[in-house]
Amino acid sequence: MENARERQIDGFTVRIERDLCIGSGNCVNLAPEVFELDEQNLVAFKEGSGDDPPIDSARLEEACRLCPVDALLFFDEDGEQIVP
Ligand code: SF4
Repeated sequence: MENARERQIDGFTVRIERDLCIGSGNCVNLAPEVFELDEQNLVAFKEGSGDDPPIDSARLEEACRLCPVDALLFFDEDGEQIVP
């Protein structure tokens, strides 16, 4: 998807599919260190969230899991997709 964005965080990979996002804010509520809603009310990576691990990876995974439309993909260190 051309509107996808990807970031490595603490060895894990998070991919956001902005075309799917409906702006529910679940991910932002649970993981505000990593996600934010932009001016289009779509999920985006927060500035600086690719630096030192800003968040516990279990909470990051849970935040991805909470997305009601599976717009957040989460991959482990081996590149295996865990969410959704
Ligand atoms: S939880 Fe999913 S739908 Fe809601 S803001 Fe995050 S990515 Fe978008």
